[in-house]
Amino acid sequence: MNASSALVVQAAAHLADCHLCPFRCGKRRTQAAGVCRVGVTSFVASEMLHHGEEEILRPAHAIFFSGCTAKCSFCTAARFAFRPTYGVPVTAEMLAQRIVQRQAEGARSVCFIGGDPAPHIPFIVETLTLLGNRRTIPAVFNSNFYLTAAALDLLDGVIDIYLPDLKFGPAVGRAGCSEAIGAMPDYWAVVTGCIDRVLAQGRQVIVRHLLMPGHFECCTAPVLHWLAERPALEVSLLTQYLAPSHLRGPLAGSLARVEIEQAQTLAAKLGLRLVR
Ligand code: SF4
Repeated sequence: MNASSALVVQAAAHLADCHLCPFRCGKRRTQAAGVCRVGVTSFVASEMLHHGEEEILRPAHAIFFSGCTAKCSFCTAARFAFRPTYGVPVTAEMLAQRIVQRQAEGARSVCFIGGDPAPHIPFIVETLTLLGNRRTIPAVFNSNFYLTAAALDLLDGVIDIYLPDLKFGPAVGRAGCSEAIGAMPDYWAVVTGCIDRVLAQGRQVIVRHLLMPGHFECCTAPVLHWLAERPALEVSLLTQYLAPSHLRGPLAGSLARVEIEQAQTLAAKLGLRLVR
């Protein structure tokens, strides 16, 4: 067995005993889905040439997988993020062919998104291995980065650029925003640890931080300070927060102009490498 085939087999083992994210369900996904409820078949909610990604990636072939490891209350993609069988069930060959097609249409990157792509890592590894040198554009993993070291080890062989979200700040007291809003225990240690790990691998890493209304002190400020300690990171500040209509409470509001300016001022003061 060559190294690529061995990686596919290693990744597929998580369909029987999943440890791709910190929930470590250990589920036989052929029989019972774990916390994310993603089974053995990957469903794609949509795929397209996307012009809204960061400049170096666009137009990107964006592939939105159904299912997610988080449960963010403000999720605007809930219709597929929380419904793992939304969309079209795909095989690796089907997706590989579509990637080749989008590449011919001008895609400058292929971006694996969700929901979250974490539960789909076995499928992503299989697809990229099958593609081999038919793929000439970088593969991008755009994720909440709530991952395990085992997941990152699998991606190390196939992903060129990482696009982690670092949304929530560290917990102060018993529970932080990550747990209250996103249902992700131990979020700060896990996600910052994963970012440090791919940074140490020498990969290109663009960290996205979504500004949320009323979350400057608890989330934005500590996140930006942490990023400033890692000058190799590029940073993308997302200002398009949009609350879903069912949401109540502070996150139901919209982002104020002053909150955006406050974040941009701090980012400039800290000397962050901002990308658009
Ligand atoms: S990816 Fe899904 S099945 Fe796997 S450990 Fe995480 S929540 Fe559980």
